[in-house]
Amino acid sequence: MDTRTFRNAMGKFATGVTVITTDIDGEVHGMTANAFMSVSLNPPLVLISIDEKAKMLSKIKKSGRFSVNILSEEQQEVSMLFAGQSSDKENVSFEKRNGSSVIRESLANIICTVYGSQIAGDHTLFIGEVEDVILRDGKPLAFYEGKYSRLTTPQLT
Ligand code: FAD
Ligand code: NAD
Repeated sequence: MDTRTFRNAMGKFATGVTVITTDIDGEVHGMTANAFMSVSLNPPLVLISIDEKAKMLSKIKKSGRFSVNILSEEQQEVSMLFAGQSSDKENVSFEKRNGSSVIRESLANIICTVYGSQIAGDHTLFIGEVEDVILRDGKPLAFYEGKYSRLTTPQLT
């Protein structure tokens, strides 16, 4: 199996889109990510997966903290900015929560400290213990078959 076939298979799994943020030396760094899942309720844990080539990797190792910002359907430009696909920084605005920078207007901001990590191939899995969350109403930005997408209504029950 070649890499393209593997990616095509993974692309059949529709996901939301997040931007991971972390604060380091008084600056915030962000990175678009769709490898995100809920892990545990007690304690509340989530998981992200960061490429060994991503600048985000050393930054989370150093800060010991990260936030997961779940994007709304209005935030495709924000996703593109933090994936290096756009340079329009006008579309993003941060707010501080418990000393962590999170992205305004996201559907959810999930603020975490690093609970554990595991190298897995060319990625590192970070488990985060959730300290705090901020929630907003809205519809999610989705990613499917390597393209941005939106939920259609009516929703399935
Ligand atoms: P950079 O490439 O330097 O930064 C990313 C971009 O964000 C740059 O354009 C930078 O200018 C901008 N930026 C950073 N901080 C700020 C700031 N404070 N203000 C304004 N702009 C800022 N990779 C993974 O490892 N795991 C995943 O789960 C994952 N999922 C992805 C899902 C999707 C839908 C897409 C499109 C990409 C995904 N990627 C994932 C790839 C990842 O987003 C890119 O490789 C990204 O460029 C890696 O970022 P970096 O940390 O190396 O930093
Ligand atoms: P794509 O067809 O590459 O993505 C389809 C699916 O493949 C993704 O949802 C993800 O599950 C998987 N995938 C893609 N690249 C991966 C990687 N390097 N490691 C592990 N899984 C990966 O879609 P695209 O539009 O070409 O993606 C845009 C860019 O973002 C590409 O450079 C891609 O590598 C990167 N990306 C990385 C990850 C990741 O987990 N590191 C996830 C999604 C996209």
